[in-house]
Amino acid sequence: MERTLFEPEHEELRTSFRAWLDKEIVPNYLEWEEAGIVPHDVFVEAGKHGFVGMNLPEEYGGGGTDDFRYNQVIDEEIQMAGVGGAGLGMSLHNDICVPYFLAYCTEEQKARWMPGIASGELVTAIAMTEPGIGSDLASMKTSAIRDGDSYVVNGSKTFITNGINADLVITAVKTDPTQKHKGMSLLIIERGMEGFERGRNLDKLGLHSQDTAELFFNDVHVPASNLLGEEGQGFLQLVHNLPQERLSIAVAGVAAARAALGWTLEYTKERTAFGQPVGTFQNSRFALAEIATEVEVGQAFVDQCVTALNAGTLTAEEAAMAKWWTTELQKRVVDRCLQLHGGYGYMMEYPIARAYADARITTIYGGTTEIMKEIIGKSMGL
Ligand SMILES: Cc1cc2nc3c(=O)[nH]c(=O)nc-3n(C[C@H](O)[C@H](O)[C@H](O)COP(=O)(O)OP(=O)(O)OC[C@H]3O[C@@H](n4cnc5c(N)ncnc54)[C@H](O)[C@@H]3O)c2cc1C
Repeated sequence: MERTLFEPEHEELRTSFRAWLDKEIVPNYLEWEEAGIVPHDVFVEAGKHGFVGMNLPEEYGGGGTDDFRYNQVIDEEIQMAGVGGAGLGMSLHNDICVPYFLAYCTEEQKARWMPGIASGELVTAIAMTEPGIGSDLASMKTSAIRDGDSYVVNGSKTFITNGINADLVITAVKTDPTQKHKGMSLLIIERGMEGFERGRNLDKLGLHSQDTAELFFNDVHVPASNLLGEEGQGFLQLVHNLPQERLSIAVAGVAAARAALGWTLEYTKERTAFGQPVGTFQNSRFALAEIATEVEVGQAFVDQCVTALNAGTLTAEEAAMAKWWTTELQKRVVDRCLQLHGGYGYMMEYPIARAYADARITTIYGGTTEIMKEIIGKSMGL
């Protein structure tokens, strides 16, 4: 279906970003998948072309727009190019971390961090999850105890996207460990601070070129001037920003399903069995027809959510609906598409194999499908 969401300037970004991906990312992708990380410089190169920090103010080198459609175009093209692992760090930087800096930085903090975030020289990450907790965020243990002009941070985080490449880590800490939600705050912990160590780059099922790491904090003295927003407001800050995070994952989910459909259509039109293209068996036609329908349905809802986000009306429940439904769709679609590739679908040289492995995490990170349904269910008074 024709999508009415975009203006010519979004399509211009789509064209230029896709050309950049094809030139700079696609040729190196398999090497980075092997290495388990993209070079830090990729963010700087993206910054030179305006592909990061689109939402930051122009005075700090950003694109000066508060229009999520630019982010959406970038997220979609990463999936369409089949480079989800390499692109996820950029999406996280743009869609998930930048909003915290936009909403909560003081003027001094803006001047200190925003130019680097916009140029890609300062890569960002957000660290909530700990070895002992994920879904139950308010039970987190990493502490930040005030000591004069600093906070002394102790604890650890795990599964942190951009964990190795990150220069600035938005870290959820307990400034009052006696409290649950009310004791949480957000601190920016910077590369090079004494006592801030990175663990190994974790070995994952998919998203191999996405560095995902453990972080350790041993008596890290973080200046109080690195507090983001007000002390004790951390949980509310997270709740406020999670809808955009979830919508970003939903945007990628539908795009990943669309990409898988495209590769599979192409493959099943060429591959023959019993004297006919495998796509023309009724079973294949039905499968592909169902997938095409579901992708269109999912796209319509996601586009509507993007419009609502831009208007400031997207609710936590709507974002949760978009997140769980599109990522379950993605998982279902890549599985069915892999089946239609036969044995070749299991070979890593085919994009569908990598897409299958990459899809598995999407119903877990950013809040699991079960937690999304809890959010929706509670909103119905249940
Ligand atoms: C590749 C990758 C990247 C990630 N990136 C980041 C990142 O950048 N920053 C970050 O902070 N975290 C990140 N995460 C962590 C991710 O968000 C968590 O893994 C996720 O929130 C789930 O938490 P958990 O793993 O502790 O699972 P648990 O919370 O232990 O859940 C285990 C199971 O129990 C279910 N469950 C838990 N509570 C309930 C409930 N109330 N009702 C019903 N079922 C429930 C869950 O749905 C799940 O099926 C990442 C994880 C991965 C694997």
